Amino acid sequence: MRILVTNDDGVYAEGLWALVKELKQVGKVSVVAPDREQSAVGTSVTLHHPLRVKKVQPKIDGVETYSVEGTPADSVIIGLQLVAKDGIDLVVSGINEGVNLGNDVFISGTVGAALQGYFYDIPSIAVSAAFVDGKVMFDAAAKMGRLLAERVKQNKLRQKLLLNVNVPHLPFEMIRGVELTRPGHRSYHDGIEKGHDGKRDYYWIVRGEPVWDEKEGTDIWAIRQGKVSITSLPANLPGSTRSRVLKDTCSALYEELCPSND
Ligand code: MN
Repeated sequence: MRILVTNDDGVYAEGLWALVKELKQVGKVSVVAPDREQSAVGTSVTLHHPLRVKKVQPKIDGVETYSVEGTPADSVIIGLQLVAKDGIDLVVSGINEGVNLGNDVFISGTVGAALQGYFYDIPSIAVSAAFVDGKVMFDAAAKMGRLLAERVKQNKLRQKLLLNVNVPHLPFEMIRGVELTRPGHRSYHDGIEKGHDGKRDYYWIVRGEPVWDEKEGTDIWAIRQGKVSITSLPANLPGSTRSRVLKDTCSALYEELCPSND
């Protein structure tokens, strides 16, 4: 099992290495990730200037690691074609610092990287953990990544796979379930702040508070309930089918994630 790990928070982000630590138990991990934070760049691919790729020191010994002067999607393309020449069986992107729910999936670099893997017909998983009061808890999200990777390894999930996984800001004993969800509605009313740099005007797009829709069965609802949300994204993309297998596996995933919970 050969696993490519990337993210949009940068190659040295804590969440990426929390994930690598768990995924190493499932297969051979290579890391190819942006050299700096690239959140909200979505599926963007760099076509108009060359990319620098640098072999860098891993945070965990023995993991081949490269930084890319580009986007998360660039990192996946480089990872698949340049670094892992003997092929990749699974792409995992994350763990993002902050959830990617509802409309976020269209601009998320974390999800954009996983989508790029999916375009190459490789099972791909995006993993994000809630960011609360300036803190992120990576443990449950990392373990969730491993449990799903194990299922991919055992061929228990379909080959054509793109999952968006979000984990609430809770310790294991307080997580209340694992739910297969559909994307909910969560959008922002962005503001514009104008400034002047001494020569010209400039503008900042400032994210407003998200507007939530908490309908039952959505990713947003699951997180609000203290549950892990798994959204099978390609439900409406070419070549995809709804995954009954995945729905049936949610309770088993929960038992393995939180074995001592009722
Ligand atoms: Mn990010």
